[in-house]
Amino acid sequence: MMERNETLEILEIGDPRLRQRAEYVNDIKQARELCRKMVSTLRHVKGDGLAAPQVGKSIRTFVVETKKTELFPNRQESPLYTIINPKIIKVSKEKEYDWESCFSVPGLIGLVERHKSILLRYITIDGEQREEKFEGYPARVIQHEYDHLCGIIYLDKLKTKNHLYTAENWIKYALKK
Ligand code: ZN
Repeated sequence: MMERNETLEILEIGDPRLRQRAEYVNDIKQARELCRKMVSTLRHVKGDGLAAPQVGKSIRTFVVETKKTELFPNRQESPLYTIINPKIIKVSKEKEYDWESCFSVPGLIGLVERHKSILLRYITIDGEQREEKFEGYPARVIQHEYDHLCGIIYLDKLKTKNHLYTAENWIKYALKK
C-alpha cells in the first residue's frame, strides 16, 4: 500500500538531468512502476503534467491529467494519460498564447505560445500504439511535457522576458478577474 502512494522528488532548474535528451523506452513493463509513481506524484502536487526527466529518469514518458483550479476555473479537463515514446506527427498552423508553470521552475508563471492542436502517436501503459488528436489546454500540456523529453524548459520558449511573472505578481497584475 505504501509503495502505491509513493511520491517522487521533482528536480529543479539548474539540475543538468533536466537538459538531457531522454531515451526511448524499450521495456514498457519496466516503465510501468515509474509511471504509477509519477501519477501519484502528479496528483500529490496537484499538477497537470509530469515528465520522467523531472523525476531524474531520462526516458521518454510523461503523464498528463488536466483539471480546473481555483485560479483557472475554465480550464479544459482531461482524463489521465500515460504517454510512452510519444511523437508529435502533426501540428496545427494556428497557435495561441496561454500561461504555463512548471514544478521544475518553482514560483514562476510565463506566457508561452503553443500549437492549438497536435496529432500525437504514442504507446499506452498497456503497450498499445495509439494516434490521438489533442486540442486546447491538454494539447498545450502535452507540448510542454514533450519538450522535457528533449531537455527543453518552457522558459526557453518565452518570446520576451516580460512574459515571466512570479506567482504572486501574476495574481496581482496578470490575472483577469
Ligand atoms: Zn514542466
